[in-house]
Amino acid sequence: MDKQTEFVLRAIEERDVRFVRLWFTDVLGFLKSVAIAPAELEGAFDEGIGFDGSAIEGFARVYEADMVAQPDPATFQVLPWRDQKPATARMFCDIQMPDGSPSYADPRFVLKRAMNKAADLGFTFYTHPEVEFFLFKDPLLPGVRPEPVDSSGYFDHTPQSVGSDFRREAITMLEQMGISVEFSHHEGAPGQQEIDLRYADALSMADNLMTFRVVVKEVALSQGIHASFMPKPFTEYPGSAMHTHMSLFEGDTNVFYDASAENHLSKTARHFIAGILQHAAEISAVTNQWVNSYRRIAAGGEAPGHICWGRNNRSALVRVPMYKPNKGASARVELRSLDSGCNPYLAFALVLSAGLAGINGEYELPEGAEDDVWSLTERERRALGIKPLPQNLDEAIREMEGSELVAETLGDHVFDFFLRNKKAEFADHLKQVTEFELQRLLPVL
Ligand code: GLU
Ligand code: MG
Ligand code: MG
Repeated sequence: MDKQTEFVLRAIEERDVRFVRLWFTDVLGFLKSVAIAPAELEGAFDEGIGFDGSAIEGFARVYEADMVAQPDPATFQVLPWRDQKPATARMFCDIQMPDGSPSYADPRFVLKRAMNKAADLGFTFYTHPEVEFFLFKDPLLPGVRPEPVDSSGYFDHTPQSVGSDFRREAITMLEQMGISVEFSHHEGAPGQQEIDLRYADALSMADNLMTFRVVVKEVALSQGIHASFMPKPFTEYPGSAMHTHMSLFEGDTNVFYDASAENHLSKTARHFIAGILQHAAEISAVTNQWVNSYRRIAAGGEAPGHICWGRNNRSALVRVPMYKPNKGASARVELRSLDSGCNPYLAFALVLSAGLAGINGEYELPEGAEDDVWSLTERERRALGIKPLPQNLDEAIREMEGSELVAETLGDHVFDFFLRNKKAEFADHLKQVTEFELQRLLPVL
């Protein structure tokens, strides 16, 4: 038995853990959980826990339904909202086929495979997401307009506000689960919050984000309110982004930093950004995976609608924040398209692959955009070579369909399932008679 496994078994005894939840994620990014008794744990570490893969979204065809969840002892944590004795803990799982090989459908494996490719080049991929979400007063029911918990705006500080009480409790709980938080504040829309996680390697971060979503929802419920990561719940307010700051390290060295280069931006960083720009449209169906995601992308404001980069330009898809002198280790680039409804494993895997393609192919970085790209005319954008991001899920699907990079990174099974699922979503959406049409047409036609 290795040290980590021993640690878990001892912790279970010492903290009187009665339920151990085994967590994994389906292809669309929804968390799955099966609880086992501590007595089953040694067996689970040895052989995993079997389940019916064909019942999980995107996992398996019926004739190869048997799958095995193999808990990762490094991810053991007692759940702070269930820490009264007897307590409940959780571990993330890797999903395997009955023969012990990794499941091609497991998003965690897709990300591991992409991270291994980076490791072959000597790189570790770090991410630091800024997660935006809404807090609402009432339970979230389809067809009922949700009411935000407050009417505050960006960085507002309101005494005794629901938002700051909420953030305080959520952050305390995240820290108890080993997830460090760097910043938090009220975001631009009523009821909208942002919590920024301290950087970690992308696999730990994807696990952290799955935990984050559960913690945020649990804390909200415990305070009698409701949280949602829906990308764009309101027509008139900004949506919820998941801006992600990214860097590559070689050992302890941040390879995005070069003290002697223009703006300290290393050649590697320039190729990485060029890779993201080159493949941004192809990976869009995953970074922004819902019909609703494109309401945000198309809305303007601080959401990126166009494929370009800029220094400190908040209308650009990739923003390069100014590096503080002598802070080479914090050199990073911020991708602003991702939204809070994505599957973080698949999204990080694709962003990394796009960046690595740029490095391997030594892609040339185009000129940075220094203007607000939303305020340029289409002709001006064309003259600058700035193309739009896909403006709806259908366009994104078409871009993805032709992408070798996406097919290779996701693997054929996830690639095919994802496209089929998204086509069905878009087809359903096309049939909808919307509020917009009723309001515009009923009074006049
Ligand atoms: N909520 C904005 C968006 O949808 C981003 C706001 C910000 O710049 O933090 O992209
Ligand atoms: Mg923000
Ligand atoms: Mg940001």
